[in-house]
Amino acid sequence: MDDIRCPSCGGGRVLPIYRGYLTFDLARAVEEKRAVYDGPILSDEGGDSWLCLDCMNRWR
Ligand SMILES: [Zn+2]
Repeated sequence: MDDIRCPSCGGGRVLPIYRGYLTFDLARAVEEKRAVYDGPILSDEGGDSWLCLDCMNRWR
């Protein structure tokens, strides 16, 4: 996690993006701003995996 950097701005404030079933652990992680929940729909492509809090860039 500490090694993840935003490819756009180089910032280190990066959160993992989760989709699908919202588990209790995931809900708590989102509440504590340790993860981002993007909804229950899982796309075939998988979607983006990371969100930068500095520039709101998403990538995978
Ligand atoms: Zn960024």
